[in-house]
Amino acid sequence: MTTPKDSAEKALEVERFFGTEILFGAAGPEAAQKRPMTLEDVRAWVDDCKKCRLHEGRTNIVFGEGSPSARLVFVGEGPGADEDREGRPFIGRAGKMLTRIIENVLNLTREDVYIANIVKCRPPGNRNPQADECAMCMPYLTAQLEVIRPEVIVTLGSVATHNLLNTKTPIGRLRGTFHQWGNTRLMPTYHTAYLLRNPAEKRKVYDDMLMVKDALGL
Ligand code: SF4
Repeated sequence: MTTPKDSAEKALEVERFFGTEILFGAAGPEAAQKRPMTLEDVRAWVDDCKKCRLHEGRTNIVFGEGSPSARLVFVGEGPGADEDREGRPFIGRAGKMLTRIIENVLNLTREDVYIANIVKCRPPGNRNPQADECAMCMPYLTAQLEVIRPEVIVTLGSVATHNLLNTKTPIGRLRGTFHQWGNTRLMPTYHTAYLLRNPAEKRKVYDDMLMVKDALGL
């Protein structure tokens, strides 16, 4: 019997072969399963992943959370200590700031949006995830985004921005304007952990979020 994990892996093989950026199109697992891929399918695919060294130190995989039909998805770089312990994204100090942005600037709730990271396991000592770790984990995020199909993605910080836009241009030059991830608009902005250390930069993130708010007609 074909499982969601088998289908997803088959889809990955196909996509690697054809080199397209959209992972789950009409000929992907949707067609194979005769039903739309769900976030539960992707979660089952991640399962007990040990594809990269980050699995060694994790307590929990931090898959992501929020609305499966979110119009807006936030993508950070990876779980911290609080997130690793609870298995939930953005729940520490930086997460609380993100919640305030969602509620106070965008007039939404965390349940209205979806929140995920580039890597799903905590890098040791909160270091940045390395390029090979990001590459190994990216198919999961790509699958999540393909299921959700948001109208706007906000990348928080350099790691998320560089991995989704496939660039090394400094975040300070990328933020403040929309880019494209496939057909989806993508706004890079500073990570809220950076804002905790550099509160003077909050104004720029506020401006970026106003552009997102306008793009979504909120
Ligand atoms: S970070 Fe991603 S690829 Fe690496 S072990 Fe965790 S789930 Fe797997």
